[in-house]
Amino acid sequence: MLSYQHIYHAGNLADVHKHALLAWMLTYLTRKDKPISYIETHAGRGLYDLSSDAARKTGEAAQGIEAVSGWFAADHPLAQVLADLHRAHDATSYPGSPLIAGKLLRATDRMHLAEMHPTEHAALRQAMRGYPAKCYQQDGFALAHALTPPTPRRGLMLIDPSYEIKDDYAQIPKHIARITRAWNVGTICVWYPLLTSQLHAPMLDALIAKYPDALRHEVRFPPARPGHGMIGSGLFVINPPYGVSHAATQLGTLFGTLGHPPQTRC
Ligand code: SAM
Repeated sequence: MLSYQHIYHAGNLADVHKHALLAWMLTYLTRKDKPISYIETHAGRGLYDLSSDAARKTGEAAQGIEAVSGWFAADHPLAQVLADLHRAHDATSYPGSPLIAGKLLRATDRMHLAEMHPTEHAALRQAMRGYPAKCYQQDGFALAHALTPPTPRRGLMLIDPSYEIKDDYAQIPKHIARITRAWNVGTICVWYPLLTSQLHAPMLDALIAKYPDALRHEVRFPPARPGHGMIGSGLFVINPPYGVSHAATQLGTLFGTLGHPPQTRC
């Protein structure tokens, strides 16, 4: 049984990076009238309480969204999702990626969410009630292969593993190659940590070699604790929606105020 639980990390700077760009990508994709598919291979529980003991224990949200919420103007799609959520729940609630998608998608869009952990999966089902979402308690990559190409054919897949299984770094480029063979028009977005150990580097090299036109956006930030190995967050986006590289550049500038220059390539 995997032990990772995202509540310890919810709302940290990596979440802020991933969720701010996800919100922009969904905003751009839903500007056209046509419906889209949204698929998540590693969904988490969808809704987090940042005042919980688990969230407070690491203090990552305090260094993350609680410190930088002022970065986002009221019309930023992540700010709109947060405001909407805080009206419905209390001000210490924080949306996971499925709930961000749920709030930005339309009734005609389709969502497919995989979450393996039984407790997280049960919480996800609860959080997604009222949204056009199907929640699956199964391996996210198996679901991704079973669903691609999805109907509707336009859309986005978020791949956001915890990398608790170190083999994920080797397997992800193979999974993505199979997914893009089946679904060459889909936006495929992979999150990865920037690690002092450089464990992520061979995976990234493989993705860059295979998808030279993809958008790669990385931000750096101070480690959550002294000696912590994660020093930044990366998103690799195949078929990025039009406009997202501009949003990425703006986000990079904001992260740059933390003292490390951002890196964008597309
Ligand atoms: N995407 C979420 C968000 O941004 O709000 C966070 C997801 S968290 C980083 C990774 C999740 O993947 C965990 O909840 C974990 O239980 C789940 N998980 C781990 N292995 C999985 C697998 N093979 N298939 C589906 N879910 C998995």
